[in-house]
Amino acid sequence: MKNDIIFKLQKLTTSEIKRDVPLAKYTTLKIGGSADYFIEPISIPEMIAVYQTAIENGIKCTILGGGSNILISDKGIRGIVIKNKVTGISYGNKIKINFRKTASHRHEEIHWKTGFIKLTDLDYDEDTQDAVLVKVNSGTSLQLLMYNTLHKGLTGLQWFARIPGTLGGAVWNNIHGGKKFISDFINSVSYIDSYGKQQILQRDNLSFDYNRSNFQNSNNLITEVGLVLQIGNKNKAMVVAEEWKKRKSDQPYNSAGSTFSNLSEEDKLNYGLSSISAGYIIDKILGLKGFKIGKVKISENHSNFLETELGATSADALEIINTVKVKAKEKIGIDLNLEIVLLGDF
Ligand SMILES: Cc1cc2nc3c(=O)[nH]c(=O)nc-3n(C[C@H](O)[C@H](O)[C@H](O)COP(=O)(O)OP(=O)(O)OC[C@H]3O[C@@H](n4cnc5c(N)ncnc54)[C@H](O)[C@@H]3O)c2cc1C
Repeated sequence: MKNDIIFKLQKLTTSEIKRDVPLAKYTTLKIGGSADYFIEPISIPEMIAVYQTAIENGIKCTILGGGSNILISDKGIRGIVIKNKVTGISYGNKIKINFRKTASHRHEEIHWKTGFIKLTDLDYDEDTQDAVLVKVNSGTSLQLLMYNTLHKGLTGLQWFARIPGTLGGAVWNNIHGGKKFISDFINSVSYIDSYGKQQILQRDNLSFDYNRSNFQNSNNLITEVGLVLQIGNKNKAMVVAEEWKKRKSDQPYNSAGSTFSNLSEEDKLNYGLSSISAGYIIDKILGLKGFKIGKVKISENHSNFLETELGATSADALEIINTVKVKAKEKIGIDLNLEIVLLGDF
């Protein structure tokens, strides 16, 4: 990048524009190479100005949220990496909404451990029309947001307890917890498009589906999210949050969450499988639980999670991913879809 452009960008942000920044520490897998340039904007106007200027000058930008769903190449990322540090929650007035039943068409993994609340008590819709529109800056931590809203008596995010990352990353992949999707609670999303223009779209125009949103086919930068949260049963919601934290307590944090997407019910039937779970396929059909290359291994606790140790590389992680894909294709003829996002020069 030419010096005059760096100078121009530096004038737009209070964050120092750094060169050759190792990115591993910004990811939960703790692996990956360096960013050519690295910026951490802390306000929306700053982030917009930097993004617009980069676009005008033909410089590629990559957005990092909490880094909990990504695998960064050992060769790093070219152009500018924007680490989103724009946080903030603002609560609007009370509004009336039509009763909305959430999507609830997901089939969750079945937990049979004792001491857990019955699954049937873990899926419900609030029976109230009273709600609040909450505007959230996209760099806000999802867990902080969940506790903040629950403490105010606004429910909905309890299904996503213990999921790391920012709200921007959660929207990008339409995260799922229990039988809910984050999109069940979204009203609108504000973003900057690839021409540097500020845009806003309502939930129904964002092509949300399982692990899917239309942000994945674009270079748009999500800046703010409008959520509709009901004034619901706070105590019940808190119990649900604690229950999900307990159920997920053995999921390793030195991972990037689920490596592969679970199957659809249709695929389960077509391939004659007894579960939609990618973890079930990796463990019970491919026998790859605990499989290790270098310092990366398929978790003993959750076969759909990759765990890293100090000294791990992205090349090792990618080799495990490819091994699983090849074996799944050979043994059952299925193409597993990667849920983790690959960033940088692979
Ligand atoms: C222990 C563990 C448990 C997990 N459990 C779950 C789970 O139960 N359900 C689930 O769905 N996921 C789960 N995940 C995956 C992950 O936490 C979520 O996908 C999370 O929402 C990712 O958010 P992030 O901010 O970390 O995004 P990142 O990993 O930083 O980024 C993911 C993608 O989103 C893009 N992105 C991020 N922010 C923006 C933005 N503001 N604008 C545009 N693009 C953006 C990035 O460029 C990247 O392509 C888990 C992960 C871990 C480590």
